[in-house]
Amino acid sequence: MRFLRSSIILFLIYIALKINLCVPSVPSSLKTLAIAGHFDFKQVHHAAKDFGNRYSFLPLAVLHPKSVSDIATTVKHIWHKGPGSRLTVAARGHGHSLQGQAQAHQGVVINMESLKSPKMKVHTGNFPYVDVSGGELWINILHETLKHGLSPKSWTDYLHLTVGGTLSNAGISGQAFRYGPQISNVHQLEVVTGKGEVVNCSEKQNSDLFYSVLGGLGQFGIITRARILLEPAPKMVKLIRVLYEDFSTFSRDQERLISVKNTFDYIEGFVIINRTGLLNNWRSSFNPKDPVRASQFKSDGRILFCLELAKYFNPEKMAEVNQEVMSSLSQLSHIPSTLFQSEVPYIEFLDRVHISEIKLRSKGLWEVPHPWLNLLIPRSKIHSFSQQVFGNIITNTSNGPILIYPVNKSKWNNRTSAVLPEEDVFYLVAFLTSALPSSKGSDGIDHILSQNRRILESCEKGGFGAKQYLPHYSTKGEWRSHFGPQWEAFFQRKSTYDPLGILAPGQRIFQKATAFSL
Ligand code: FAD
Repeated sequence: MRFLRSSIILFLIYIALKINLCVPSVPSSLKTLAIAGHFDFKQVHHAAKDFGNRYSFLPLAVLHPKSVSDIATTVKHIWHKGPGSRLTVAARGHGHSLQGQAQAHQGVVINMESLKSPKMKVHTGNFPYVDVSGGELWINILHETLKHGLSPKSWTDYLHLTVGGTLSNAGISGQAFRYGPQISNVHQLEVVTGKGEVVNCSEKQNSDLFYSVLGGLGQFGIITRARILLEPAPKMVKLIRVLYEDFSTFSRDQERLISVKNTFDYIEGFVIINRTGLLNNWRSSFNPKDPVRASQFKSDGRILFCLELAKYFNPEKMAEVNQEVMSSLSQLSHIPSTLFQSEVPYIEFLDRVHISEIKLRSKGLWEVPHPWLNLLIPRSKIHSFSQQVFGNIITNTSNGPILIYPVNKSKWNNRTSAVLPEEDVFYLVAFLTSALPSSKGSDGIDHILSQNRRILESCEKGGFGAKQYLPHYSTKGEWRSHFGPQWEAFFQRKSTYDPLGILAPGQRIFQKATAFSL
């Protein structure tokens, strides 16, 4: 009897060893793939970090692809392993996500910035465009297109982000009211689906995949190439800031400006709470129109709303543009003494946040936790939102800027995966906070996260119909309620393009192999 038991145990050990020898372990199976780039199994720690600096999931390997086929081969290999394999794949652009969205716990992270093909190619003519790799940084696209006197139309405030990273969300900035977000300014994509297929798609060709991927949080495919629309680039930008004490007047002016034809090229705004030194800081880069009255202006701890406007121009049209600007400004109802202006080259305007990045990095303040909260609030609820949040939940803005500006929904395509509020005009409200790692006070992570929770609760209680931009949730129920009526379509798209739930595990919408229960 004893002998029999030992024989069975020995036999089982033999089988286990045999299986292990015959079926290569995951790293070795990846090593056998015929690719032009390479896998790194050791230097993987950077892929477990992001700008948010709060979540860290160590991958098994990082793929540095040299070609689209490297990406397709890898995804296909994992697809062929079937639902039993726990392996997942995250495309990582510049890693500027906030909550681990570009990470893959014990999976494969694809370092999209190594993908240098296709080489960036600008097409001039009546309908200019540029073809770029999905891992290209927007700042590089700007430099390249400017050589041809051209530039993309729609931007983000910060350009050291990749095309795939922003197109997976939306890409919103002060130009979006006119041109729509970046996802409204793409003509074609090349995508590697969750089955490892390489598919070209556009409005006319494989249009369902095209619109799924735009704003699709990386769930349906990896963007390996994009065709981005261009327009003639201006040389200079007139930047204007004016202040308001009253939210209604501020938002009325913003909404009017985004609704008229002859307006500014960029319209944003931000909130200033309990920051008396702010006006002095501005004087280095902005000139007050009326220096004497501006010097007498005291904010006295009041809540102020700053409208930020930009008008593009070429120096030969300076006089004409000045007149247009003065005429538009004369219709605004800001505090008269608070008109500040400056003129900067176009490239400096677009790359403005990078200047702050350099300063913050030098003080060790860039790589701190960033518990950001980005919301899209319907226009009809923005006043209630403002009353409940500014000065009540948020009592000072020294932890980071709060952006607030309206955009026109008509400039968004409703076939994309982006989730938006119901109304024709909605506001982007971005709480761009930085936390001091060891602080237990108002600049500490706990305090800021609790503020974020209170803001979300007040949206919920007020029935504001707000949607998170760059969304992050922990449960399937929360994701369902985020997508609302779009959930079933999102789910259908997932089962078509990534049926095993291999892609974008860091979004935590679907779990691999258990992806498909509604
Ligand atoms: P990553 O963080 O690397 O990836 C983000 C998501 O996209 C992940 O889910 C990832 O898997 C997926 N992904 C990445 N590449 C691909 C690809 N090729 N194909 C498919 N999926 C892919 N957003 C705005 O809209 N407007 C702004 O003004 C703005 N300003 C910002 C300023 C700063 C300082 C920062 C840090 C972020 C800002 N963002 C803004 C947010 C930013 O657009 C997103 O976080 C974006 O995803 C970051 O791009 P990334 O290349 O770093 O992407």
